[in-house]
Amino acid sequence: MSTDTITPEEIGIDFSKHPCFSRDAHHKFGRIHLPVAPRCNIQCNFCNRKFDCMNESRPGVTSAILKPWQAVDYLDEMLAKRPEIAVLGIAGPGDPFANSNETMETLRLARARHPGLILCLASNGLGIVPYIDELAELKTSHVTITINALDPTIGAEIYAWVRENKTPLRGLHGAALLLERQLEAIRKLKEKNIVVKTNTIIIPGINDEHIPTLAKHLQELGVDIMNCMPLIPVKGAAFEDMTEPDRTMVARVRLQSGAHLPQMMHCARCRADAVGLINEKPTEEQSTLLQAYSQKAPNGETRPCIAAASLEGMLVNEHLGEAKRFLVYEPVATSAGGYKFKEIRLAPEPGRGVERWKELAEQFKDCRMVLVSAAGIGPRAVLDELGLQVVEMEGLIDEGLRHLFAGQPLPATLKRRATGCAGPSCRGTGTGCG
Ligand code: SF4
Ligand code: SF4
Repeated sequence: MSTDTITPEEIGIDFSKHPCFSRDAHHKFGRIHLPVAPRCNIQCNFCNRKFDCMNESRPGVTSAILKPWQAVDYLDEMLAKRPEIAVLGIAGPGDPFANSNETMETLRLARARHPGLILCLASNGLGIVPYIDELAELKTSHVTITINALDPTIGAEIYAWVRENKTPLRGLHGAALLLERQLEAIRKLKEKNIVVKTNTIIIPGINDEHIPTLAKHLQELGVDIMNCMPLIPVKGAAFEDMTEPDRTMVARVRLQSGAHLPQMMHCARCRADAVGLINEKPTEEQSTLLQAYSQKAPNGETRPCIAAASLEGMLVNEHLGEAKRFLVYEPVATSAGGYKFKEIRLAPEPGRGVERWKELAEQFKDCRMVLVSAAGIGPRAVLDELGLQVVEMEGLIDEGLRHLFAGQPLPATLKRRATGCAGPSCRGTGTGCG
């Protein structure tokens, strides 16, 4: 490690307990990842986001996505159960700064409750720079930046697009912007004396010969440690047919890069919801607990169920105002998809204005969402206020439930397409009015 890294005495936190950065700690101290950041601001050609962020994760979905207040309540329970956990990390499952509000709020809440916890982040580096000052104030001591190339012509082969202000930049433009932000991020993190690890995916024939040059430059920037990880070809990703680097290539890249920077050899490519010691396998109990927290309401009440408006019981195909009955589903961790049908409930009689929606909210107070093909602005506002979120979607009920019970957002294919509703608050997102 470089000599200018922040010392434990300076911020009153014991770094020697970080299992990813200290070889001695790795069998004794654990980490918890809070999955609060589902979106991503770039598209790597080796990633299929139906799975997970390969920067820090094995392919495999997180069991649920948490809101910041859910995440810190879950953190409290896990720390009480697992006192060996010394590190809180945020590593997606997308990029922490594609959900910067959620990421920063989680870190603020966690720091306020747990002053001695080591805070850690893993990012592609595109969106982190505006937050580095506050990260340092929150005593975030370890940050990982994934950087795969120092040359935009190589980067252009690795990234399909890089999003800037809602515009996807492709080819050289995108790769050059990403590189500029990553280098700026590393410089600024080191100015703040934050320990910086870089991850690099070894992609045969694309960057394997280039990585030692990258390592040299990163060393000059003050990076502390480098983690060169072999590409895992993932089904559905642009690189799915690429050959995985063999051991000889991995050893060569690490040896040559090791001439410039210490190499991390014990990375377990943890899930975005990993808990416990590195190499510990996720348990069903942890997954159930995570899902339970993802379903908690802010006032502590639980709304585990989801209702759907359907004419025949297969598709979400009824308007909120026209549905005479709703199908109610409840979570069951052991069933396929994580839920099962519970019952049919009749909708309140129409024609009573706001009272009808208040009655509906009362009848469905064990439900956190109601899936409908469309809904008016007024009823949505009343139901939202009373804790029942109206979700407009098209397609199979089962497909929607599978994502929503897993705490994931609906995929674009299920979101309702924009129609000519043109209400005053329609933002044209295709997800419904208001
Ligand atoms: Fe931090 Fe990555 Fe270790 Fe998680 S696995 S604690 S994000 S270095
Ligand atoms: Fe996937 Fe992570 Fe790349 Fe985003 S940064 S595309 S989540 S591997």
